[in-house]
Amino acid sequence: MQQLITDINFLIILGLVFGLIFGSFATALIYRMPRNIDWVFKRSECTKCHHKLGVIELVPVFYYLFSGGRCRKCKTKFGANYLIVEILTVSFFLFGLIYFGLTLEGVTFCLLSFSILVLSAIDFEHYIIPDEVNFFIAVLGAVYSGYNSYDMIDIIFMPFFCFIFALLLRLIMFAWKKREGLGFGDVKFFFSAGFFLHFETFPLFLMMSGLIGVVIAIIWKLRKKGELFPFGPALGLSLLFCYVFSEIGSITNNIVQKFI
Ligand SMILES: [Zn+2]
Repeated sequence: MQQLITDINFLIILGLVFGLIFGSFATALIYRMPRNIDWVFKRSECTKCHHKLGVIELVPVFYYLFSGGRCRKCKTKFGANYLIVEILTVSFFLFGLIYFGLTLEGVTFCLLSFSILVLSAIDFEHYIIPDEVNFFIAVLGAVYSGYNSYDMIDIIFMPFFCFIFALLLRLIMFAWKKREGLGFGDVKFFFSAGFFLHFETFPLFLMMSGLIGVVIAIIWKLRKKGELFPFGPALGLSLLFCYVFSEIGSITNNIVQKFI
């Protein structure tokens, strides 16, 4: 069994298969969640002619290969965004399984990156973070940190600490700029992220969120999409970064402490 789990070919096949399945599921969630369409029982269909999608059409990579990204019935072109989401999901799954192996860390990374992709795509398009995604990340984080036997106080304390920190940040930004700087969905994300973060990794999380946020803000400005830009993708990517490079968190924490 041990041999099987560390076998690189096995991990690649696993990453590809589950990456494609979860990538396909992600595209369904991204379309349905913000539109309040049932995403549990309803079968996927073409948004134009309502032709029910077959198994192959459910996986964006396959229908791009076999039908050029068009509905087989009415030939409507599906956006390339779904293909991008699926390729990203597969990439994250491959990275997670190869880097961490078939371990709790590896599986958690895959599920976390999947959630963050869904969250980012929805936030980019609709400027919201669905409560369901935040809730799933919180549950995933609670299970993960529980199994990793973090300090009990850490597990309970960090989510609330992060939440209150973000809430204060939101109020300060509101008072300063007289408009919403940090959405309430972002504040709730801080709570969920708290399950994965420690005191040592929190400064790194803030720093990376800020950096990625600036990059997104610049892209938003260049694309003339207005002053308001989605901050969820920056928070999500930063959390993934802290998850993989948690040891950098300790280093930055030491540097920060030297200055205080
Ligand atoms: Zn169609």
